[in-house]
Amino acid sequence: VRAIVIPSVDINNFSSVRDIAHQFDGGFYALGIHPMYVHSSEEGDLEQLAVILEKALDDPRFVAVGEIGLDFFVKEIATGAAREKQEYFFNEQLKLARRFELPVILHVRRSQDIILKYLRRYEELSGIAHAFNGSEQQADQFVELGYLLGMGGAMTFERAQQIRRHAAKYDLRHYALETDSPDMAPSWLDVKKTPNTPMQIARIAEVFADLRGQSVAEIQKQTWENTLNIFPRMKQLIS
Ligand SMILES: [Zn+2]
Repeated sequence: VRAIVIPSVDINNFSSVRDIAHQFDGGFYALGIHPMYVHSSEEGDLEQLAVILEKALDDPRFVAVGEIGLDFFVKEIATGAAREKQEYFFNEQLKLARRFELPVILHVRRSQDIILKYLRRYEELSGIAHAFNGSEQQADQFVELGYLLGMGGAMTFERAQQIRRHAAKYDLRHYALETDSPDMAPSWLDVKKTPNTPMQIARIAEVFADLRGQSVAEIQKQTWENTLNIFPRMKQLIS
């Protein structure tokens, strides 16, 4: 594992993701308000985020706005005012990413088409659709807009046929590998005994290589390059 990007979920953990990223070589972080934490966030948090993002530009370990996005899987936040608030926070954070010329790490759950609608308004943006799942048509559109498809633990389950089809379909330049640790454990982990950590990425790369019929070396080389290209600030520090 050469680099790890640690995204935040709300303003209360901005300083901890920054501190953790600084504790080891290859540690990087992203700042943003996660859709599942929008309901407990306030309008003023967006203003604070803007101030903190601007300051973070001086920190080479800081690479992206994230996680941001929309989550319509969790029922309580999928309708009415809670849903509107999610869309408002998402749009405001896309504006911040554009203003500071930063890539975004997207959380996309049961919200693919609406997220695509927003992304089309910000054509200059790019980033990663992390833990991507969705229809083939939706995947095509994320790829066309220049987003990397994040492939991780979910892909390691044989029943995840749709994700496995996405994993095999596109040119290797369109993917990033991820663990989403401690969430989304791969099929071989019993999380009660062994927590999901970034170390699992090696075996995730093997599964991905198998699905695509390519060598692990090829997968490692190209997904690493993709990651550096999508996070220019990381590339700048590492090379
Ligand atoms: Zn997520």
